[in-house]
Amino acid sequence: MNDDNLHDPQRRMVLGGMAGGVAAAGFAGAAQAQTPEEAAAGTPLAEMRDPQTAYPQPPFEEQRQEWPGLASEMTPVPDHGEESYRGSGRLAGRRALITGGDSGIGRAAAIAYAREGADVAINYLPEEEQDAKQVVALIEEAGRTAVAIPGDITDPAFCRELVERAVEELGGLDILVNNAGFQQSAASIEDISDENFDATMKTNIYAPFWITKAALPHMEAGASIIITASVVAEDPPENLFDYSQTKAANVIFAKALAKQLGSRGIRVNAVAPGPFWTPLQVVGGQPTEAIPEFGSDTVFGRPGQPVEIAPLYVLAASAESRYSTGQVFEATGG
Ligand code: NAD
Ligand code: MG
Repeated sequence: MNDDNLHDPQRRMVLGGMAGGVAAAGFAGAAQAQTPEEAAAGTPLAEMRDPQTAYPQPPFEEQRQEWPGLASEMTPVPDHGEESYRGSGRLAGRRALITGGDSGIGRAAAIAYAREGADVAINYLPEEEQDAKQVVALIEEAGRTAVAIPGDITDPAFCRELVERAVEELGGLDILVNNAGFQQSAASIEDISDENFDATMKTNIYAPFWITKAALPHMEAGASIIITASVVAEDPPENLFDYSQTKAANVIFAKALAKQLGSRGIRVNAVAPGPFWTPLQVVGGQPTEAIPEFGSDTVFGRPGQPVEIAPLYVLAASAESRYSTGQVFEATGG
């Protein structure tokens, strides 16, 4: 898809209309010379607010769910942009596959992509159907095609089937977001079972390898591959020995693959979150007693909400960042 002419106001209006009512209203407003204040009032995420107090701060209620957990059962429920993300046609007509698209960071990316005009396939585990159904409804409300493909990505055969189904039902693939992840806190290397170590490696390193390898034959110049790494790749906490190694591997995935795929015009970037309020953390990702103070050690003193990192996934996928590859885009709270 060529969007070189996005600066053309007429074309932007058309694309805005394609992206659904909300985006269309945004574009219409822009064409009628809205004041910046009027534009901001309709875009809650972009309102000028103090980042320290813009979202819930510690202490949080101590909570624990069975893995893989549901966003809808967290207190407070995370903000994935359901009410606050406003699109502007930046991914008009693109086709995206997002793993872990049911909850947390992947869900925020899915909502943002749909509101930016993309059709979106999400992968998740069957136990997460309840969260996934909400995401499907939100993508459809944005006027886009939603494809739900539950299944376990620690199985290489399923990873290949996942890509085939996404390509078939979306009619192609322009954006791949390797975002699903597994994280279990353990005080010592001696407390990590072989099974848990294996699950962490398979989910965080093998699955992106299997999925990306299967997806590449379907991707053309201009396509974008994104992997969710983490701030722990640079500064590993002592309780995340195995997980931190996988996130460092995710950074190298982006940097090394970017070199291989440059000559095909395919970009590969990583997004590195700091602490975000998602199910991953309350299913054993942190010790349960650490949840009340989760995110308090950042500059802003609170965890990020998934919607606050969605713009980086949009930027990495959009042609606006076409000179960026092998990069790590961070949202760490400082
Ligand atoms: P999340 O629990 O909402 O998302 C993780 C998703 O991974 C789950 O929804 C699930 O669908 C998927 N998943 C896990 N194992 C799977 C399997 N075997 N098969 C299929 N799907 C599976 O939590 P999140 O925090 O949004 O996590 C998304 C990504 O962000 C992960 O890669 C994680 O490592 C990364 N990350 C999170 C934080 C944070 O603080 N929340 C910080 C840095 C990086
Ligand atoms: Mg989930």
